Amino acid sequence: MIGAIIMVHGDDQGLVLPPRLAPTQAVIVPIYKNDAEKSKVMEVADRVFKELKAAGIRLKMDDRDNVSSGFKFNDWEMRGVPVRVEIGPKDVEKGSVALARRDRPGREGKTFVSQTGLAANVSGLLVEIQDSLLKRATEFRDANIHDVQTYDELKEVVKDGWAFGYWCESTECETKVKEDTKATTRNIPFDQPSEEGTCVVCGKPSKRKVYFARAY
Ligand SMILES: [Zn+2]
Repeated sequence: MIGAIIMVHGDDQGLVLPPRLAPTQAVIVPIYKNDAEKSKVMEVADRVFKELKAAGIRLKMDDRDNVSSGFKFNDWEMRGVPVRVEIGPKDVEKGSVALARRDRPGREGKTFVSQTGLAANVSGLLVEIQDSLLKRATEFRDANIHDVQTYDELKEVVKDGWAFGYWCESTECETKVKEDTKATTRNIPFDQPSEEGTCVVCGKPSKRKVYFARAY
């Protein structure tokens, strides 16, 4: 399952975790250059942390002093945390924060919002990201995973996608597929009606379908 998530939700910057699965849904990154800025920024950051926590959002505060903000941004992006809340001295003055969504890296995914009503805003954003990733995963599945009825179809599909077909669960058939195509079986617990068919490799009775794909 994790393999499937990484395959579907990942980009050059690393993981993109769906909010519902993410152990940490949001991270607060306070930004400051000196102690004076730090005390002002941390006051707001601590308040925001409590508000978001009270709203049931799983979050972390990144108040590490030994690394730069840029390092923190990359670090959390790589780990796939869906939302980053940045708070700097200017935000303290303006009563704002910057929200960065992991599924849209860079400027495009960044918005400046008021500190007022922030919990509702972040909760809404998490739902939006969840929906957007689900849509992306569904599109990916429809474009890349194909039902196969015959062994020839399987061989063709696994060249650049995932094949979904009946398998008798024997090691012989799995080995044959691997030798012929380099593809292996992937058992992913998507909703799967139990129905009977015949193994695409040997033609013997089969009670379940599996995915066949080459290793990435
Ligand atoms: Zn078989």
